[in-house]
Amino acid sequence: MPDHYVSQYICLFNLDGYMITYASRTVLLIIGFSLTSAMATAQKVKEPKTTAEWVTAYQPFCIAGNLYYVGTYDLACFLITTPQGHILINTGLAASASQIRHNIETLGFKFTDIKILLTTQAHYDHLGAMHAIKKSTGAKFMVDEKEADVVATGGSSDYALGKYGTSFEPLKVDRLLHDNDTIKFGGMQLVMLHHPGHTKGSCSFLFTVKDDQRSYRVLIANMPTIVTDKAFADISAYPAIATDYAYTLNAMKSISFDIWLASHAGQFNLHSKHKPGDPYNPTAFFDQQGYDNELSDLQKQYEEKQQQKPAGN
Ligand SMILES: [Zn+2]
Repeated sequence: MPDHYVSQYICLFNLDGYMITYASRTVLLIIGFSLTSAMATAQKVKEPKTTAEWVTAYQPFCIAGNLYYVGTYDLACFLITTPQGHILINTGLAASASQIRHNIETLGFKFTDIKILLTTQAHYDHLGAMHAIKKSTGAKFMVDEKEADVVATGGSSDYALGKYGTSFEPLKVDRLLHDNDTIKFGGMQLVMLHHPGHTKGSCSFLFTVKDDQRSYRVLIANMPTIVTDKAFADISAYPAIATDYAYTLNAMKSISFDIWLASHAGQFNLHSKHKPGDPYNPTAFFDQQGYDNELSDLQKQYEEKQQQKPAGN
């Protein structure tokens, strides 16, 4: 079963999609000129939606070895510490910056030791604080090459969420990543896996961490949930969307790992596996079955989407 937070997230956008379509038919002609000029001057960042689960603070903890959870209740952010500095994957919303900083310091690490910034997808709920964190740490931001355009426009060129305008602060990319590229830093080796569909440059990270017992193969997966309420054939801004989802669903089936994590805590059922204050227990996140179930659920959603008739005329 998909997690209810994820379903809620998709529903909110679908609802909005219909509202905007309705509005555009009725009032766009009348206010067209004023709207265009207003948008040209107002490049303000506006996050379209937040939920209580996204903004609620959450106690940081060690997942395994040098890998830590430092996100909010649902927006998963991961810190990998090394002797040369830290890697941060995902930042949550713009307002999450202070929560992440607090979480990192609570764990006993220095926020300004972050040297590399990564994201699983260029949506404002994972990239919202990236610009601010990059600015205050001077860390290098690396992103899937297919995400570069949306990162530069602060989300306004996104095929689905672009309708909301600028939803996160645009930022400079220091390194473009390609499928299977390795990020080597401080003794860590993270392989980026291009998993497009949710966004054009959605990606996952595969790497190994160790403790004094053993090593763990970790997959931080960007689960290929569907964002748009449109039929695939109607998405002219992303003609390859259907083949990209098919590619990703297939590619994700053959990844082998010990620990499964994802962009939203709800997607990997964090809250059923870990409670604040629980002792260190990496095996709580061994969940091949949960991963397989979620992928087969997403496969079904993809197949249903394929059946959706284009709006046409
Ligand atoms: Zn997203």
